[in-house]
Amino acid sequence: MMNEQLRGIVRGMPKAELHIHIEGSLEPELIFELAQRNAVQLAYQSVEELRAAYAFTDLQSFLDVYYAGASVLLHEQDFYDMTMAYLRRAAADNVRHAEIFFDPQTHTGRGVPFETVINGIHRACAEGPISATLIMCFLRHLSEEAALQTLEMARPHLDKIIGVGLDSSEVGHPPEKFARVFAQARELGLHLVAHAGEEGPPAYIHSALDVLHVERIDHGVRAIEDAELTARLAREQMALTVCPLSNIKLCVFGRMDEHNLLRLLDAGLAVTINSDDPAYFGGYMNANFEAAFDALPLGLSHAQRLARNSFAAAFLDDATKQRYLGEVDAYFREVMP
Ligand SMILES: [Zn+2]
Repeated sequence: MMNEQLRGIVRGMPKAELHIHIEGSLEPELIFELAQRNAVQLAYQSVEELRAAYAFTDLQSFLDVYYAGASVLLHEQDFYDMTMAYLRRAAADNVRHAEIFFDPQTHTGRGVPFETVINGIHRACAEGPISATLIMCFLRHLSEEAALQTLEMARPHLDKIIGVGLDSSEVGHPPEKFARVFAQARELGLHLVAHAGEEGPPAYIHSALDVLHVERIDHGVRAIEDAELTARLAREQMALTVCPLSNIKLCVFGRMDEHNLLRLLDAGLAVTINSDDPAYFGGYMNANFEAAFDALPLGLSHAQRLARNSFAAAFLDDATKQRYLGEVDAYFREVMP
């Protein structure tokens, strides 16, 4: 258990969030509010009943509830309200900059127009209390053809996204399934990331790097099973966007004191801490930091490294990045005993 002084420092330090699915920030209260606003019938009778369904056993059991929750999002204002709620919550945790994932196919598949989704989310990012940019994710359980169609839909909106990613059910859907669509996104000058090595094997991290040419690995905790890969990730300073509470909730690790976050840091990897789907996994950024610091022997120097890593791995121009890193270092000079 960390002491209260360190807790205060971790909570107050400036940080960036690089792994947040905006649909996963939809709190049960807002799901019910939007269901009522849009006259959508939910399979759950109350906020409590919906929360009770959050006892997940694996990634798929979570995704089933996640897609049910997203069904209340119909109009641009709904996407705006969801995104603004997240940005305010992130600001309260001293997140200075967020790179937000969204899943257009979860919505276009229900008949919601692509522009409704992106315009609502983007407008909130432009008006919100912190710096925020968007990464459009492809659902990997669907076909590459469907991903290619989604990229086509995004073409008139390329000024609203900075990159593409790959999420949803990992096992059985290796990165190489999306080689063509990532090549196209790369030609468009978009940044590239992919979920790999959460439930899937280290081989998926290899192919995310070598076939998709990603610039960050989302999750990546299973890299540690492959010594050569671990050494490569450290050598290349390839950032991993690790999500501690998500990993426990989805049973990637049994308990937080079994999490390999500190081992990854000790191996020299560019680890960051993120919230993934905070409404579903028990907390936003500071809750993730506190859970990890409570369970693992992490100290002040780890906190500073994690904060620095989050800005160093962000898709920001160099001057902005240096400004944030300077802010982190000034903060730690101030609080150092
Ligand atoms: Zn994720």
